[in-house]
Formats: sequence, C-alpha cells, structure tokens
Amino acid sequence: MAIANQDEIEMQDVRLMLGTHAFHFDSRLPAGRIIAVSGPSGAGKSTFLNLLAGFERPDSGRILMHGADVTAAYPAERPVSVVFQDNNLFAHLDIFTNVGLGIDPALKLAAQDRRKISQALEKVGLANFERRMPATLSGGERQRAAFARALVRKRAVLLLDEPFAALDPGLRAGMAELLLGMHMETENTVIMVSHDPDEVRRIADYGVFIDKGAIVLAAPLTEYLAREDMPALRRFLHG
Ligand code: ADP
Repeated sequence: MAIANQDEIEMQDVRLMLGTHAFHFDSRLPAGRIIAVSGPSGAGKSTFLNLLAGFERPDSGRILMHGADVTAAYPAERPVSVVFQDNNLFAHLDIFTNVGLGIDPALKLAAQDRRKISQALEKVGLANFERRMPATLSGGERQRAAFARALVRKRAVLLLDEPFAALDPGLRAGMAELLLGMHMETENTVIMVSHDPDEVRRIADYGVFIDKGAIVLAAPLTEYLAREDMPALRRFLHG
C-alpha cells in the first residue's frame, strides 16, 4: 500500500457506481496549489468533488488528505470547505448568520468570530448586507456570501464547483482575485471545477482533466496546456 503523503490529496483506486455510471479515480494531487478540474459535461467532475467533500462515499478505495485517511469521515470532519455552483445558503437565516454557520454550526459565536464574519463579508463586498435575507440578494451576491462562509472556515482544502459561473465578467474577475489573494495568504489547497479555459489559464497552477468517469490527466499547468494527444482536452482548451 502506498505511504500517505502529508503534502498530497490522494485518491487510491477509488470506485463508485451511481445508477449506471461507473467512476474510477486514482490520483495524487499536490497540496497548497490551485488545481483546476475540467472535462465534458457528465464526465464526473461534481462526483469527484463530492467524493473529496464526503457527500459521496466510495464503494472501494481510499481517500487521503494531508496524510490522514478520510474515506469514512463525515463532511464536517474533513479538512474541507465547499462552495457550490448554486450557493447553498439557508433561506430563513440572514447573511451574517449564514456566514456564521461556517465557523460553528451551533452558532455559538464569540466577539472575535463576529468580527471575522464582518471582515469576510467586507472582503467579498457585502459589508452592508449582514441583516439581509438570501432571497433579497442577486445570484452573484448570494454566491459571494457563500464564498465568505468558506473564507471564515479556514480549512486546508477549498472545493469549488464552478463558483463564478453565474457571475458577470467583472464580478467574475473580482472573485478570482479574491480567491488568489486568500490562497496566497493561507497557502490552502484549492480544487476548482471550471468550464472556462481562460479562467484555468489565469488562476490555476495544476490541471486535472476528467473524461468518462476517470481522471485522464493530472499535471502541472504548463504540461497540461501543452498536451496535444488528448482530443477532448484540446477541444476544451481551444474550442
Ligand atoms: P459533471 O460534473 O462532470 O457534469 P457529474 O459528476 O455531475 O458530471 O455526473 C456524472 C454522471 O453521473 C452524470 O451523467 C450524472 O447524471 C450521473 N449521476 C450523478 N449522480 C447520480 C446519481 N445519484 N444517480 C445516478 N446517476 C448519477
């Protein structure tokens, strides 16, 4: 059996069946980098993220994060925070409280925690939105609130499923800047599903390509961008 590496996020021979779809992931991804995950629609990108987050459990195989076996761990026990495409804010709680859930699900918040929440909301440009309910925000604003909730969690691994897809280009660039800034500050591992090759080029330093339920390439970005022998990857990068 391979020795667990502190500096890696590993899937060892992970297999999963969902309906008639078979997934097989076997990969070692470097920690502390921005890793873009791309591939055709239906290839298994969200499933890959769900396995890392713990929302899906493998039928067999092991998942290791920074040397710890998290295969059987619940989502909350893993060193991860997640931002989905459709921010999963609680509709009956205001924005401040939604972000607070990132710190403590029981919402026992000390003064210091409350300051952190305000700071995170300020960072994503929602300083005046603390008492607003999610339904009164635009899609982009809700996504920024979900991002603030991930910011306050301060976990080693940040999983993002097309986090900026619903935002207009200006906001999108702003959020990418925010993500980069946070990454440099915390040296966290960012694993981000992206359908946008320009976004991948701009912010990722490692590329993963998933096709038909498996990882067909996981490589440093320069190598990833230069690969000529994978038609699906060429189509994604060059249209
Ligand atoms: P991607 O994110 O790359 O678009 P997904 O990981 O969402 O792909 O899904 C891969 C395939 O698995 C899709 O065809 C999807 O319909 C199927 N799938 C996902 N979840 C389930 C499920 N719970 N039951 C049956 N099929 C599923």
